[in-house]
Amino acid sequence: MSYSYDDQNIFAKILRGEIPNTTVLETEHTLAFRDIHPQAPVHVLVIPKGPYVCFDHFALEASDAEIVDYVRAVGEVCRMEGLEADGWRLIANAGTNGVQEVPHLHVHILAGRVLGRMLAKG
Ligand code: 5GP
Repeated sequence: MSYSYDDQNIFAKILRGEIPNTTVLETEHTLAFRDIHPQAPVHVLVIPKGPYVCFDHFALEASDAEIVDYVRAVGEVCRMEGLEADGWRLIANAGTNGVQEVPHLHVHILAGRVLGRMLAKG
C-alpha cells in the first residue's frame, strides 16, 4: 500500500497558517491544537508537521526524529493539561472503516469526564 497525501486537507492548511487554530503545543515536528468541535471538556488534536495520511503512513515513512518528537509531544500535552490523575483516551482514526474525516495523521486526546465505553454501536 502506498499513500498519497492531499495537501489541500484542512490540517495542511492549518500547518501553512491559512486557517487559525488554538495551539496547545508546538515542537520542531509536531503541532497540538484544540478540536473545533470538542467531544469532551478536553479535546486536543496532535498532528505531525510532515505530510502523513495516517498512523501507518507515519510509521512507514517518518524519520526517527519525527516519531520521537510526536510521541513525546502527546505525553507533554497530557501533562500540560493535567490529565495524569483522572485519565484520558487517545484515538487515531484511519481510513473508511476508521471514519477518518481529515486525511492528515492526527490523534485525539480526550479527557475531562468519564468517557464511557470505547465504541458505540453503529
Ligand atoms: P477524524 O474524524 O478525522 O478522526 O477527526 C477530525 C477532527 O478534526 C474532528 O474531531 C473535527 O472536529 C476536527 N476538525 C475539523 N476541521 C477542523 C478545523 O478547522 N479546526 C480544528 N481545530 N479542528 C477541526
